[in-house]
Amino acid sequence: MSEEKSLNFIEEIIETDLKEGRYEQIATRFPPEPNGYLHIGHASSICLNFGLTQTFPGYTNLRFDDTNPETEETEYVDSIKEDIQWLGFQWKNEFYASDYFEQLFGFACQLIEKGLAYVDDSTSDEIRAMKGTPTQPGSNSPYRDRSIAENLDLFKRMRQGEFPDGAKVLRAKIDMAHTNMIMRDPVLYRIKHAHHHRTGDAWCIYPMYDFAHGQSDSIEHITHSICTMEFIPHRELYDWCISNLEIFPSHQYEFARRSLSYTVTSKRKLLQLVNEHIVEGWDDPRMPTISGMRRRGYTAESIREFCDRIGIAKRDNVVDVSMLEFCVREHLNRIAQRRMAVIDPVKLIITNYEEGKEEILHAENNPEDEQGGHRDLPFSRELWIEREDFMEEPPKKFFRLGPGLTVRLKHAYIIQCHDFKKDEDGKVTEIYCTYNPETKSGEDHSGIKVKGTMHWVSCAHAKTAEVRLYDRLFKVENPASEEGDFKSYINEDSLHIVKQAYVEPALMNTSAGDKFQFLRLGYFTTDRLSTPEHPIFNRTVGLKDSWAKETKKEQA
Ligand code: ATP
Ligand code: MG
Repeated sequence: MSEEKSLNFIEEIIETDLKEGRYEQIATRFPPEPNGYLHIGHASSICLNFGLTQTFPGYTNLRFDDTNPETEETEYVDSIKEDIQWLGFQWKNEFYASDYFEQLFGFACQLIEKGLAYVDDSTSDEIRAMKGTPTQPGSNSPYRDRSIAENLDLFKRMRQGEFPDGAKVLRAKIDMAHTNMIMRDPVLYRIKHAHHHRTGDAWCIYPMYDFAHGQSDSIEHITHSICTMEFIPHRELYDWCISNLEIFPSHQYEFARRSLSYTVTSKRKLLQLVNEHIVEGWDDPRMPTISGMRRRGYTAESIREFCDRIGIAKRDNVVDVSMLEFCVREHLNRIAQRRMAVIDPVKLIITNYEEGKEEILHAENNPEDEQGGHRDLPFSRELWIEREDFMEEPPKKFFRLGPGLTVRLKHAYIIQCHDFKKDEDGKVTEIYCTYNPETKSGEDHSGIKVKGTMHWVSCAHAKTAEVRLYDRLFKVENPASEEGDFKSYINEDSLHIVKQAYVEPALMNTSAGDKFQFLRLGYFTTDRLSTPEHPIFNRTVGLKDSWAKETKKEQA
């Protein structure tokens, strides 16, 4: 967007920090846990973190927050990198929290030596019971006063694998009566004999998020560590660790999580949809994942524009998906090649057009783009048109075809309908028209005016294609906040496959990801499974917001 925009609250903080000389340049990071594919909520965080270091001097790291061995996989690491780059961003360094395991272990030993951490043999239930409540202080663990030497010895033996999972934890020694529950001797390390996607079996103790995140920020000299609002109570512990370890003072800032209407934005929930085969996979075009949106035909530019428009907030909120679709449509209108396709065909015969004759029309690829060029578009006596464009007994203001009615065929001629044929079931099988040779598009001086223009495909030249039409994945606006299982709100009709659509020849041999506007039908993209023998097109979005119309109707 060209107009001057005001700074968001994080930009304001950074501007002040730079002005007052606290830093010469800033460093941010995007810290995904590689336990799933990135979704539209992550896109917000990516655009924010990488955007800040485009606005201000500095750089952004990609850090995989891989401290949870059981849920993490290399497949996810690869997809995350691909998605960030596709969105148009490049990190300075690729880091892994697991690269810091040795350093983090050292930090933990330092806390023990300072008398600020201890090994606790209590079970997780016991620890929970001693935690107290927001209105009642907790109580001290019987293991809280172990000597420094004993703690060091036990912690090292934890690392060596002497104890089973859950037998012991390392806890910070802070204050069991602290008003912030998170500060009541939080667990820093747990025992987990699990294989890690990078460190293999080298470790059987793993740091908790609160002990890994801030220290990793500090190791990387991250100046502004941005996370979502649920981490506000954790900020105190973040600062406590950094100050007691006397390491680089990174600072945490929070912004609101973003969710999108009619979908879910939680990797855990999206994983369920994948595992239970409710969708085809992480990149199913109905998924709010970056890879799903890419396959659906959304452009990186439109997703960035969307994130920019919604900006950042301090209160969690659900953004209307039609806002995202608006951004997609706006971009595709500028770049998509115009083509014609008929998805519910019925035959139209131009009775006064010579049999066997063909004309090659020159059709504009994109009226929004002067440099867009033209394509060859064959025209002949028999055409496919959309079944819904013909009515036997058309009502007033039906500006399409019916007995006696006149329309323009896009890029071609004005035709008039004089007859039609039906089968025994009453289904229209053929429509008969005459054309006016004086009305060819671009050379029409006839002065005849028509209200409707229709798309068509020449039967002799048409190619068959599969077309996939998508609708929202959920029936309700905010499935995660509804009662019961979010999966019970799935829209059963979210995918409609048209096996035999007819497309113009210029739609053969397209490549995955190519963007088209099928006239009057919407924006489409070539699916990654498409082949020249069996082309597949996904509908990205309709030309207009059909949902907004429906809602208005309901309200009227
Ligand atoms: P999920 O619940 O989907 O797993 P997460 O927060 O656990 O989300 P992470 O991989 O830990 O996922 O997130 C990486 C970064 O993206 C974090 O900084 C996180 O705050 C941010 N993020 C995740 N989801 C959203 C969202 N819906 N809106 C804004 N930022 C998000
Ligand atoms: Mg997480």
